[in-house]
Amino acid sequence: MTGTIVITGAARGQGAAHAALLAAAGHRIIVTDVLDAAGEATAERLRADGGDVRYRHLDVSDEHEWALLAEELAGADLPVRGLVNNAGILRHGTIADTTVDVWELQQRINVRGTFLGIRALAPLMAADGGSIVNISSTAGLVGSAGYVAYSASKSAVIGLTRAAAAELAPSVRVNVVCPGGVATSMNDDEPAGGSSSSAPLGRRAAPDEISPLVAYLLTDASSFVTGSVIPIDGGLTAV
Ligand code: NAD
Repeated sequence: MTGTIVITGAARGQGAAHAALLAAAGHRIIVTDVLDAAGEATAERLRADGGDVRYRHLDVSDEHEWALLAEELAGADLPVRGLVNNAGILRHGTIADTTVDVWELQQRINVRGTFLGIRALAPLMAADGGSIVNISSTAGLVGSAGYVAYSASKSAVIGLTRAAAAELAPSVRVNVVCPGGVATSMNDDEPAGGSSSSAPLGRRAAPDEISPLVAYLLTDASSFVTGSVIPIDGGLTAV
């Protein structure tokens, strides 16, 4: 598969790790985020390693910004072959203390952002085929107190993935990855290990332990895989 892969929320964390692995495999990568300085630095680092990588500002919740990106990519020399809807935020809160504003912000970025990405870029993949990988969480599969808005958003990403897989087949495959705890800025404020301590592997993943699964789903090695919901969680949801 030669073409462009767009990764959202890739200035740092898991998205940056996915960008590094996919760039090393020879794909053209567009790193997108709202953290412009970090995004430029990530793209610069990957270019220094020989990657065909550039940074572009993209707020995933902004319909207009997605339309501009789609327009730009429609006129590019390489086709769009992949999209990783990775951008996300986590706002802790119980039912009692989650405000409507926090609830809506959480859904706006995690769910609406994923929907807008699929809607904007899937048409560009329709002719030559493509693959979309959405990033949910084990929080979308099982419930945890204090994760109300986040869990709801990540379950919605699973439902969205299944519907999109049904609609976009056979030309575009759509799958969803559900990481357990991953050591990134997102859970800086949580106790060491968090819920991962009780998983069989007993630790958080490094971001680059998630990337090979994302890369597999983006390439033709996964040609018969669509609509799949794949935990990658050190066994957290198995026990
Ligand atoms: P992270 O906070 O390091 O990365 C998230 C990225 O998304 C950041 O670069 C951030 O700037 C970007 N982002 C936030 N709002 C955005 C917006 N409106 N538009 C564009 N980009 C935006 O955390 P991470 O762990 O790398 O998170 C990546 C994904 O993995 C998220 O969807 C997250 O929910 C999911 N996830 C994380 C964990 C974990 O334990 N860290 C576990 C399961 C799933």
